[in-house]
Amino acid sequence: MRFYTILADGQERVAVSEDGKNLYILEQVKDMSALIKSGSLPVIPAGQTPIDITEAKILAPIPRPMQDVICLGINYAAHADEAARFSAEAFGGERPYPIFFSKRVSLAPGPDDPIPAYEGLVDGLDYECELGVIIGKDAKNVKAEDAAAYIFGYTIINDVSARNLQTRHRQWYFGKSLDGFTPMGPCIVSADSFAFPPALPIWCRVNGEMRQNSVTDCLMTGIGTIIETLSEGMTLQAGTIIATGTPAGVGMGMDPPAFLKKGDIVECGIDGIGTLKNPVA
Ligand code: MG
Repeated sequence: MRFYTILADGQERVAVSEDGKNLYILEQVKDMSALIKSGSLPVIPAGQTPIDITEAKILAPIPRPMQDVICLGINYAAHADEAARFSAEAFGGERPYPIFFSKRVSLAPGPDDPIPAYEGLVDGLDYECELGVIIGKDAKNVKAEDAAAYIFGYTIINDVSARNLQTRHRQWYFGKSLDGFTPMGPCIVSADSFAFPPALPIWCRVNGEMRQNSVTDCLMTGIGTIIETLSEGMTLQAGTIIATGTPAGVGMGMDPPAFLKKGDIVECGIDGIGTLKNPVA
């Protein structure tokens, strides 16, 4: 089952789809967070004329997350190598434990909305295609082998990053949290749609050129361990969004680095979920 937030008659509505083509508005559901917190999957509304997805304005599935998005840093081996080459001070060294950080998302761009370039402020605008995990029920002291039952579904997140701000401020928060830096979507696919952990091709293209190309089960710290580690000390509330890290192939990893500029088109895809296609503006 796939869940979308769409703009219908000027209002944000939650819609459900089984085929990714015909969307049915869930009239009784206030927003995606309310659906997640309800603790149950809805049924396709009977007797409703579906909306063709090509005629819908698709927003980010959770446009305004209730809390900062929790992110994994350096969670694919090949990305660890390229990041350390770019800046050993910022990204090198031993990492016996997973790296967690967060990013503020006041309003997540949808799957075709622009990513702002912030010319004059940002030097080193970069993309990071990531599998997003949406927690479905409050998780505290959850073991890795039980973690799957706490997941509502999966989405695609582009963890857009300003490399100059990320390194200059010695803390990744600001450089990851600029308005418009977290395109998300195009939908949330319910967790029961995939085996656990999901092993899905994940890729990113810039202006049609393949930059990132991996599989989502190559995480150094897997989804089960992420949830076990965090929930040992903090409650992961229903609706929590976790970005699980990005594969190799980001702009700072290229030789020479190739950052985004105005007019570029960034496509982030995970097979089985969909594609984000955001212009840099
Ligand atoms: Mg990232």
